[in-house]
Amino acid sequence: MPAYINEIFNSIQGEGPYAGTRQVFVRFEECQLQCDYCDTPQTRNVSGSCRIETEPGSGNFFSTKTPLNRDDVVANIVKLWTPSTKHISLTGGEPLLNSDFIKSLDLEYPLYLETNAGFPEKAREIKNIISIASCDIKLPEHRCTQNYPELLEKELETISILNKTADTFVKVIILPQTTKESLSLAVEGVRSIDKDIPFILQPVTSDKKVPSSLLFELMDFAGEKLKDVRAIPQTHKMMNLL
Ligand code: SF4
Repeated sequence: MPAYINEIFNSIQGEGPYAGTRQVFVRFEECQLQCDYCDTPQTRNVSGSCRIETEPGSGNFFSTKTPLNRDDVVANIVKLWTPSTKHISLTGGEPLLNSDFIKSLDLEYPLYLETNAGFPEKAREIKNIISIASCDIKLPEHRCTQNYPELLEKELETISILNKTADTFVKVIILPQTTKESLSLAVEGVRSIDKDIPFILQPVTSDKKVPSSLLFELMDFAGEKLKDVRAIPQTHKMMNLL
């Protein structure tokens, strides 16, 4: 089964506890959510073309029509692999929408899944081949869905599934209007699964800065229930990387 992929390139992971790690990024198209802060809106729908980096880290691309078949994607991943590259980042869009394609990759490189965690049944299908799982928990103020309680339930189920087999962490985007109250269900949900799961607060990258006083307040609030709470911004944007 071919897949709609938006871009394939080599860069440095800029989010979460693996920030600084070199990866080949495979960015899938289509997403079931519509987050206010989305920084890849071009991937929410099928575009019909994919840009592929010509040399690792060069920033030069050629375009090709999509969908792409498994062998073409694997050939480009291999071409873009370098000695310091550690993982294949499966990102999006929402990569779990392509669980069958991900299973078909069958590569020796470790898979790093970046998911909005909204598809527990698909997470179950690929849990045994994922090495690292970055799972979002959305907040009500992200306005990404009409049914927030249902999304949160699915996210927590996905985290519970992946946490059994993969190195799993949770990422929550913090907006200037985020409060302890809006964060509380995420904190309680992760605590009910495993209070050792790293819980990353990622201040949104935008003109409207998240005050450091709010980050400190939210970190302490989450830290009362969880053991590993960190605040990590998007470092790739500081370095002008993809
Ligand atoms: S889940 Fe990710 S790709 Fe989908 S709308 Fe939200 S930020 Fe964008």
